[in-house]
Amino acid sequence: MNGNHQSKTHVFFSPTKITVGLNAACQVAQEVKQFGGSRVLIVTDPGVVAADLIKPIETSLNSGDITYVVYKGVEPEPPSRVIDQGAEIFQVEGCDLVLGVGGGSSLDVAKGISILAANKGKILDYCGVDQVPLNGAPMILMPTTAGTGSEVTRVLVLTDEEQNTKNVVFTPYALANAAIVDPLLTLSMPPSVTADTGMDAMVHAIETYVSMNATVFSDIFAENAIQLIADYLPVAWAKGSNTEARYNMSLAATLAGLAFGSGGLGAVHALAYPLGTEYHMTHGRTNAIMLPHVMQYNIPGSPERYARIAELMGKDIEGYGLLEAADLAVESIRELLDTIHVSCQIKDYGIPEADLPKLAEGAMKQARLFVPNPRDLNQEDVASIYREAY
Ligand code: NAD
Repeated sequence: MNGNHQSKTHVFFSPTKITVGLNAACQVAQEVKQFGGSRVLIVTDPGVVAADLIKPIETSLNSGDITYVVYKGVEPEPPSRVIDQGAEIFQVEGCDLVLGVGGGSSLDVAKGISILAANKGKILDYCGVDQVPLNGAPMILMPTTAGTGSEVTRVLVLTDEEQNTKNVVFTPYALANAAIVDPLLTLSMPPSVTADTGMDAMVHAIETYVSMNATVFSDIFAENAIQLIADYLPVAWAKGSNTEARYNMSLAATLAGLAFGSGGLGAVHALAYPLGTEYHMTHGRTNAIMLPHVMQYNIPGSPERYARIAELMGKDIEGYGLLEAADLAVESIRELLDTIHVSCQIKDYGIPEADLPKLAEGAMKQARLFVPNPRDLNQEDVASIYREAY
């Protein structure tokens, strides 16, 4: 960990119950009952419905005589209005438990709906840290991507369309009562979604591992996640029906979520956000693009940690100097991205070079994420990372 760990206070956040397993989705009815639910709002998106992923959940709810309403209005990188609308449906339909089923977008919308069930107004009223006064409706989260880890974090991310920016609601009330992680729900992800979401999980694990806020807890989860993703993301990408690879990716994404939920993020996220909001690229892809460039920049701030990442990704660092060994971590990430056909050059996405200063301005709006980053950055540093990434 960065710094002497005895000089820090270590805090760990997680939902009360995490279930991981093939076919775990079938247990949803008993979980709903455990948390007092009798009428459920299933929060999801059209892609998840089209992939038939709601079926096993409906079967379980029906067998438990639990009624439900499906809200499939979630949009990617969800605008705040999607949450406000879902909260209205929750109330009008007389629901008492929120069940998020989908990628991070659906899970985050579910979190927002849960919060608005107990707190008046619109979700944008609660952006920031600890701005939510009351615990919301009971909430169960079931990821269908292996990426965001949202099922175990205490944050939800939304798009503020008016400000054209991403914003967050950080609150313990965004923690689910239960997370059900069924890798079988991820088999239908197409390769590009597997790649983008898998890299999102990798960014969570790496950013937390090198963060100044890393804890004894986040280290354990991050190391495991990095190793699992390095080993299994290429396999899951190459063969979507490979259950072993899907299982390990689902596990890794949840572990990475537990890691960053307690250890925090850094500059990769800050530099990725403007790419997402300006060009409507997915969160995972923008993180993947920026990862090797920010790692290279960060190495002097945490060479031991980057050297360890190289090892976790399968490199033999024996005989290398510390900085050289740390460079191998960047090399490993570049190799992984090549394998899963993800370019980390901004120009490959049709973005004009003239836009780079605008991106740097956007990243500076996320400067809160520079605080735990292992190397300090100013606007000129940010601009030069973008130039390097171009
Ligand atoms: P997503 O939820 O936007 O889903 C991407 C696409 O994949 C959608 O079209 C969806 O229909 C489809 N999809 C999902 N599962 C599928 C499956 N099994 N088969 C076929 N298609 C499937 O993508 P995401 O990357 O999981 O989530 C991104 C969002 O999560 C962003 O808004 C990001 O900011 C947020 N996020 C939140 C946290 C958190 O802790 N709350 C952490 C990281 C990211």
